Amino acid sequence: MRNIIRAEIITIGDEILFGHILDTNTRWIGNELTSIGLLPVRKSSVGDNREDILRALRESFGHADVVIVTGGLGPTRDDITKQVLCEFFDTRLVIHPDALALVTGFFARRGRELTELNRKQAELPANAAYLANKWGTAPGMWFEKDGKVLVSLPGVPFEMKNLMEHTVLPRLKRRFPTGSIIHKTIRTIGIGESFLADRIAGWETALPPHIRLAYLPSFSGVKLRLTGTGTDDGLLTRQLEEEAARVLPLIEQFVYGYGDDEIEETTGRLLTEKNATLSTAESCTGGFLAHKITGIPGSSAYFTGSVVSYANEIKMNVLGVRKETLDAYGAVSEQTAREMADGVRRLTGTTYALATTGIAGPGGATAEKPVGTVWIACSSAQRTVTSLLKLSPFRDVNIEQAAMHAPRLARQFLA
Ligand code: ATP
Ligand code: MG
Repeated sequence: MRNIIRAEIITIGDEILFGHILDTNTRWIGNELTSIGLLPVRKSSVGDNREDILRALRESFGHADVVIVTGGLGPTRDDITKQVLCEFFDTRLVIHPDALALVTGFFARRGRELTELNRKQAELPANAAYLANKWGTAPGMWFEKDGKVLVSLPGVPFEMKNLMEHTVLPRLKRRFPTGSIIHKTIRTIGIGESFLADRIAGWETALPPHIRLAYLPSFSGVKLRLTGTGTDDGLLTRQLEEEAARVLPLIEQFVYGYGDDEIEETTGRLLTEKNATLSTAESCTGGFLAHKITGIPGSSAYFTGSVVSYANEIKMNVLGVRKETLDAYGAVSEQTAREMADGVRRLTGTTYALATTGIAGPGGATAEKPVGTVWIACSSAQRTVTSLLKLSPFRDVNIEQAAMHAPRLARQFLA
């Protein structure tokens, strides 16, 4: 069995904790560490405060094999990471000649004088290996102690990423030649997390111990992420494929893609395979569905256009929705959705058409039709199917979800 290398991430900076900036470094680093076979086990963020930084260092370095720290390396008084690292590793700051040459050159190229404050950027803890930063002025540092590694990097995302990519990740890979961690993500829509769990319980319990399953729910559906750990990339990839194939029959009608697939992308592929075309008639999504569809490169091969029919006049005059339908059932109704889809399909001459009509909110609700009531329809020359969505109290969520469920209906229709 493979030796698991545990990693922790510490981000330093008051601005992260005060909510002034979003800690995007952790997310990026976690993904990169995983890709070289390290297992991130914890992340933490601390302010620019000596005691808090020391505590985070003690805890992380005590529990993990690799610790990545970002932030607080600037020359100003508020940035104290370097001093605290000296204290933690029981050493002192010394000028590093290469770092001094680099920072001198950096300022010379910009026609600026090297101040005493900038000179301090060339100071490094005596027992740290120097990681040259060609993208800024604060160098990175690599500490080794008791078979463990701690890397300290500048907080600026661009500098951190470059140092990681060019220096830290290759070194970590050599230093910890682990096996790999491989992910396979199955994307579903139209089924809640707990229902999904019920359906696949038998399969889930039978998973081998080196393959783990995570449910990742969001407004746009539930993702099932399989994570395999091992030493043989090829074997692991095959095993994940096999598990994914095994679970598919249990949830097939909800699966729209894998990995980074977006629903409008996989729906587009399906249309291309069938040599079919699509148009949309949008009320509550106001063109957002068309926007999502046309966000996919090559969508012109199957998508012809959309009618944003927000007002009843447009529904009637452009799409041919009958006045009697609107009067009898209202704009947000199965009948209207059906006539909108049929209308835009005839108008554009496409194989299929999708329609959305609903109450996005916050206003417009009635007793029978609360906010979040959305009808979607999918039409072909042979038949038209509809689906009632009961979404959320929130306008943006309703628009976003309606625009995802419409392609979901199209996929079911095409299947
Ligand atoms: P420099 O010497 O370039 O100032 P530094 O190590 O001192 O580097 P910080 O002062 O901590 O870095 O942060 C610099 C900027 O980088 C911050 O203002 C912030 O915009 C960004 N930043 C810092 N930490 C993070 C983080 N965890 N995620 C995203 N952005 C960050
Ligand atoms: Mg700084």
